[in-house]
Order: sequence, then structure tokens, then C-alpha cells
Amino acid sequence: MSELARLGRLASVLREQGLDRLLVSAPVNVRYLCGYTGSNGMLLVDAEEQAEHRFFTDFRYVTQSAEQVPEEIEREIAQGDLLEAAARALGEGGAADVQTLGFDDASLTVKQHARLRKLLAKNWELVPCSGIVERLREVKDEQEVERIRAASVLADQALSEVLEAGLLGRTEREVAIELELRMRRLGAQAPSFPSIVASGEHGALPHAEPRDVEIAAGVLVTIDWGAYLDGYCSDCTRTYATGKLPADAVEAYELVLSAQEAGLRAVRAGISGREVDEIARTIIDNAGHSEHFGHGLGHGVGMEIHEAPRLSRTAPEEPLRAGNIVTVEPGVYVPASLGVRIEDLVLVGDDGCERLTSLPKQLITLD
Ligand code: ZN
Ligand code: ZN
Repeated sequence: MSELARLGRLASVLREQGLDRLLVSAPVNVRYLCGYTGSNGMLLVDAEEQAEHRFFTDFRYVTQSAEQVPEEIEREIAQGDLLEAAARALGEGGAADVQTLGFDDASLTVKQHARLRKLLAKNWELVPCSGIVERLREVKDEQEVERIRAASVLADQALSEVLEAGLLGRTEREVAIELELRMRRLGAQAPSFPSIVASGEHGALPHAEPRDVEIAAGVLVTIDWGAYLDGYCSDCTRTYATGKLPADAVEAYELVLSAQEAGLRAVRAGISGREVDEIARTIIDNAGHSEHFGHGLGHGVGMEIHEAPRLSRTAPEEPLRAGNIVTVEPGVYVPASLGVRIEDLVLVGDDGCERLTSLPKQLITLD
């Protein structure tokens, strides 16, 4: 789907909500709706059927915005700040009717809001409406699915290459750096988040930072990584063994794997993220590890690494929709002892889900 089709969908949402215009200010949403990747840009979206959308930037981005923003969107190079230009485009006032301008209260600062209010004619009513564009972004179109799939394939390839040299004797930080370098060499713009490589008792921290510590024999090593490619993120976790493991580590691994697979079997359009979380969590609870799985089962992934919908105990009751892309990532973290997490990225469909991450999940021993 092109940016213009996305704008068309957004305009119909605005009409449903009784809004005349929406000022889009969060860079990720501006990029989603018009393809612009620069740092200073705003988009004024018109709710009318025969919409006239306007894009604002400054002189530094004349060439870039001409290349990226579809020509159906009017481009304006602002002399002053972008809010001033947007307010001017909305007219000097005088119209008797009240008109409504939605703005993103999660992105516009209080100061910018006050300034916008001052710049706008009296008949414009400012309506806070964060989340409108994010809600559209939850359901991925074909182009987005392909980009996330490509990022996942790249990330899988990078880790496979890194593991050829084994894990034993390398430090966590060396492995993380090597992984990020491989992802970039394979074409990623960046990692989609700082890679996690956590061995032994350090694996008990779900967001462990890689240490300058050599990976020992006979432990579990959790690696959580992703690639950022063409504006989209991937996300995956695998846990490996280095040599013979104590029985409790093998048990924890098999437990997390069975919870993860039960979660994957449950994911489809119509079930809520809360229900999927419960299905996987019950397996971990029943094994006596309830206090060792403190985070949600998963999250949406797209232009941002963490986005809606969530799979967790506190997620809304609302059902997942076909086209959502979410992670399924249960874990068991035993303080001062070990950690296991297994994570796949999946595309939600009407009858189930399709895995976008493809590395094997049986317990693999690397030396
Ligand atoms: Zn992850
Ligand atoms: Zn994740």
C-alpha cells in the first residue's frame, strides 16, 4: 500500500471521529504517512474526501523532501518554525464555524501546544488525539510485512554467521559487537535495539547488558537481537547451551519452549493478547516458576521495536487482528542462577500465525 492509501484510510478515520484536520508531528508517523525520513517535518492531514494534505519542512530538506514526499501532497518550505507555517495554512480565521484540529498530545510538547493555540485563529478547536496513526500502524500492509520479513531473514543470517565461531571463551560484548557488525555488513542500517548477550547467572536479567566477561562452559546464553532495515525492525531471541548443563537448566529450557510453542499455537485473529499471554503463562505457573516470568508475553513490532498490540496480563481485552506482527517471548529468570528466553516474530492471520523468524528452537549446544 502506498503512503497515499494510508492517508486515505487516515482521512476516513478522521471523518468518523468528527475531526477536520490532524497535525502529525511524531517523526515515525510522518514517515509512515508520507515517506519522509528527515528530522524536521510535519504533516497536516485533511479529512475531506478531496483532501489537500500539506507537508512542512525547512530549507535543509528541500531536496530530500522532494524525493521522498509524494507529489500529491503539497510541500511547503517554512521560513520560520513549522507550527507557524501550519497555523498559517489553516487560515487567518474569520470563518464562523468551529473547526477541529487533532494533534498528537504524546508528541507535541506543552510549550508547542501553547504556541499553536496562540497562532491559530479562534474558530479552531484543538483536540488531543494521540494514537490515531499508531492504531493504523498496528495492521501491516503487504509492503510492511515484506520489509519486516526481510529484516528477520537478515538478522537470522547474521546470528548464524556469528555462531559458526562458537560462543565459548568469547566475551558477551565481543559476541554482541560481532553480531551488530554482521547485521550492518548484510545491509541493515542499524541493530533495531542494543543486542543482548547474557550468559549464566547474568541471563536472569531480562534486559541484561553484554559484559566484558568470557562465556563459560556448561551455561545457558541468551541472545536477543534484531535488524533495522528500510524503516522496519525485527526481533528474535534464542538461548543456547555451552557444554553439558545442570538438570535445572535443561528443565527451564524445555519449559520455556513448551510455553512458547503453546503461545504460537494460540495466536490468530480474534483472540486477545491477554488470552495468549495467559495460555503460555499457565504452563510456566504450573511448573512452579510463576515468579520467574515477570514480563509480558509479547509486543507488536514495526517501524518501532515496541508498539501495539501487546500480549500481556494487562493488555486490552481487544482481539488481535490479521496483519498484526507480534512477538511471542516467554522467559524464566531464576535470580543468581540462570535465564532462558525464546522469542519468535509472527504475522497474525485469520487461522493462525506465520513465523517470520526461522532459526531452530531445540536446545543446541555450542562450544
Ligand atoms: Zn527481543
Ligand atoms: Zn521482543
